[in-house]
Amino acid sequence: MKMTDNQAKQDALDLTEDSREQEWRSASVVGELFKGVFRWDLIHPYPMQSAADKAIGDEVLLKLEAVLQANIDPEAVDRDQAVPKAALDALAKGGFFGMKIPTEYGGMGLSIVNYTRAMALVGSYCGSTAVWLSAHQSIGVPQPLKLFGTPEQKQKYLPRLAKGEISAFALTEPDVGSDPAKMTTTAVLSDDGTHYLLNGTKLYITNGPEAGLLVVMANTAAKVMNGKEKKQITALIVETNTPGFEVLHRCQFMGIRGIANGMLRFTNVKVPVENVIGKPGEGLKIAFVTLNAGRLTIPAISAAAGKVSMVGSLDWATSRVQWGQPIGEHQAVQDKLARMVSETYAMDSMAVLSAVLADNPHRDIRLEAAMAKYFGSERAWVVADDFLQVRGGRGYETATSLQQRGEVGYPAERMLRDLRINRIIEGTSEVMQLFIAREAMDTHLKFILPLLDNRRSITERLGIVLKMARFYSWWLPKQWIPRWRCFGAKRLSRCNRWYLQRIDHDARRLARSLFLTMARYQIKLEKEQLLLSYYVDIGTELFSMASVLSRAESDLANLSGDKAKALQDLVGITCQASRQRIKGLFKKIRCYSPKKMELVSRAFLNHRYDWMVKGIMGNVS
Ligand SMILES: Cc1cc2nc3c(=O)[nH]c(=O)nc-3n(C[C@H](O)[C@H](O)[C@H](O)COP(=O)(O)OP(=O)(O)OC[C@H]3O[C@@H](n4cnc5c(N)ncnc54)[C@H](O)[C@@H]3O)c2cc1C
Repeated sequence: MKMTDNQAKQDALDLTEDSREQEWRSASVVGELFKGVFRWDLIHPYPMQSAADKAIGDEVLLKLEAVLQANIDPEAVDRDQAVPKAALDALAKGGFFGMKIPTEYGGMGLSIVNYTRAMALVGSYCGSTAVWLSAHQSIGVPQPLKLFGTPEQKQKYLPRLAKGEISAFALTEPDVGSDPAKMTTTAVLSDDGTHYLLNGTKLYITNGPEAGLLVVMANTAAKVMNGKEKKQITALIVETNTPGFEVLHRCQFMGIRGIANGMLRFTNVKVPVENVIGKPGEGLKIAFVTLNAGRLTIPAISAAAGKVSMVGSLDWATSRVQWGQPIGEHQAVQDKLARMVSETYAMDSMAVLSAVLADNPHRDIRLEAAMAKYFGSERAWVVADDFLQVRGGRGYETATSLQQRGEVGYPAERMLRDLRINRIIEGTSEVMQLFIAREAMDTHLKFILPLLDNRRSITERLGIVLKMARFYSWWLPKQWIPRWRCFGAKRLSRCNRWYLQRIDHDARRLARSLFLTMARYQIKLEKEQLLLSYYVDIGTELFSMASVLSRAESDLANLSGDKAKALQDLVGITCQASRQRIKGLFKKIRCYSPKKMELVSRAFLNHRYDWMVKGIMGNVS
């Protein structure tokens, strides 16, 4: 049994490894940080959207805002658990289901940065509507088709999708969430080779119950490679009007209550072979690549949530008087307000930076996008919770109830509920940490994995050892030799330049600590998820500081007087907070000892604490 479990785990890891992009298109600022190199030049000057592209985006945003205002009441969407059909039609008529589709196929052809600006706008108003648009465009049929589709597929489907035919992305199954290797949905090629017969059940498919087109991930015939059978996951375009497709259940959730999400069943659904995206067996790779840029919607929405929190908190903290003064004058509230502004600036800096970089086809942003998603979804949750707390009882009260009593209806509780999903979809935070850790260790794994591959000959392995010796003989000393970089950032204060030097210093500390940890744990490091998460969190803090410092320099060019001073102070507390967290994380690495935690967790799973669970009512039906 143990052997079977281990084999299943190894197969899952192999499949994920085979599906990841092996080569890097360009140097990545985050990837370099983990190698001990702070490439300030890659993000400084802060990458800006061109004026012409911004003008296009501004116009789209104006139209989008008008459509949203005229057709959607976000409170009603939450209450009625549906975005009205008329509102979806109005969005389709305005072309907002085709924002990323090239103009030649009838779409708007927006840049990624303009698309994320649009999604931030929608997300700031109605989380559910943002998910309708995002499930269709960030991960639904248009994106993989744009990246991997044949000219015929693009010609056939993109115009339909641009006009508003809704699509969805179907990967998850009842027994398959973060680990797609266990997928049971199958697509079996017919004897005459003209079509596949699709069978299986998919769960949690956003837009699925209303979609006309789906991209479905399914197992096609396994391939034997190096004497071993390898699973082949294939991406298929499925028309939902094909016989055999049915919606089994519509799921309901804590937040984003107006989305259409469900459990879908496929019974002998005929899918023409022309509907394979890419090649058979490339499905998971297609999903990963699609998600690289697709993930950028969540950081944009997270930053927008921070901005909504700022607006509502400013109003309340200045007008609400308790104990003889506005609540914004009480230090405990000030702490939350300062954190809110600081985290919002950091989320926005990372989100915009990653989106602008993503528009450059030569830049590889898989790590930046994953980090921006991980950081944004985690921090927006904290910020929105602070917003709710600052609003006190009114934070917990619904916007509708507030309005009925004649007060301003800030939707703090709805926003918190809506945001929670972002830590789960498009890669849970835990899975994002593993993804980032894998990519962060790539430099070292490129040597280690082939070395451990016992299919390689002794000569091949000796060659790898020689290459390793050559690489580490210059790389390792570099991580220890102290150095001082001047950083010619013109507008930054001396203090902020010092933070740049700390990033440079901590990047090398991160690289050498990671190297020593890898040397100590070797292949077993994969099991030390907590330890890996500390490294990922240090990298994330460093990227956040770097984004903030680069963005601040650009913003300072347009600010003067009190506003410039306020921004300098903001950058100071943002970097200070990051530094403190980094110090804490290095300490955690030094004192890493998960044994007790594991003992307690295992004891819990073995029912040793059942005696504690008394005096409650079982409310599981
Ligand atoms: C509202 C909503 C919309 C969704 N939309 C879509 C969609 O459009 N298309 C689609 O295909 N799917 C969709 N999903 C599914 C979503 O992507 C999955 O819920 C998510 O990937 C997590 O899978 P899971 O729920 O099965 O959790 P599991 O994978 O079972 O994970 C449970 C917990 O274990 C942790 N965990 C799992 N594996 C590991 C590991 N190796 N190491 C450490 N921790 C681990 C997870 O982080 C999580 O905390 C949606 C889900 C929801 C709730």
